[in-house]
Amino acid sequence: MIIRIGKASDNDYIVNDDHVSRHHAYLLRNEQGWFIEDIQSTNGTYVNGCQVVKKKICSSDSIILGDKYVLDIKSALRSVNDYSEDFLALKDVYEKYISEKIKIQSNNQFKTRLFQSLPFALPGVVGIAVGFWGNGTPQLFGLSLSLAICAPTIGIYMGAKQSAKIPQLLQDISNQFKIDYVCPKCGTFLGEIPWESLRNKKQCPVPSCKAKWVSF
Ligand SMILES: [Zn+2]
Repeated sequence: MIIRIGKASDNDYIVNDDHVSRHHAYLLRNEQGWFIEDIQSTNGTYVNGCQVVKKKICSSDSIILGDKYVLDIKSALRSVNDYSEDFLALKDVYEKYISEKIKIQSNNQFKTRLFQSLPFALPGVVGIAVGFWGNGTPQLFGLSLSLAICAPTIGIYMGAKQSAKIPQLLQDISNQFKIDYVCPKCGTFLGEIPWESLRNKKQCPVPSCKAKWVSF
């Protein structure tokens, strides 16, 4: 795959800059990655400050055409519907969503069970205290009895309250996911489809969009 870059209108990516040649450079992609190739331009092509004829590049490299024109790799790729750089960022979005979802579910399950089981232990503790220090005083026995009745009710109430938080938390992260996990070109939500499956499809599922994610 080749993206032709220069000032002339027959390029894929047209650059309006006095120091850029009519046909200045190629952005190429093969199995090894991305390359920039200068095609005998008048003022040269520079990667991270060094003049190059052909060089492998990554998205963080600074590429200058001619005197000072900064080549934006992402927008050059977009000129041929190549959204592979943007698509890569969606991997993190998907993985973060899944791990947060699991975290919320297991964390809440733990807290719910803790709240529900803890109060059952309290009357037992009080009962032991009564046995040790109370010498069977009626006040302490009464306290122990009322705890035995109230504590489980409170525990069940707190547990229920905790589990009621789950739908809201899950709704929140699911809403954010619907905003973030979208086609970088048309903005269509990609569904709860694993990133790897989307990558295998190689392009946006919306037929009119034509965004490519895997371009070779
Ligand atoms: Zn799309």
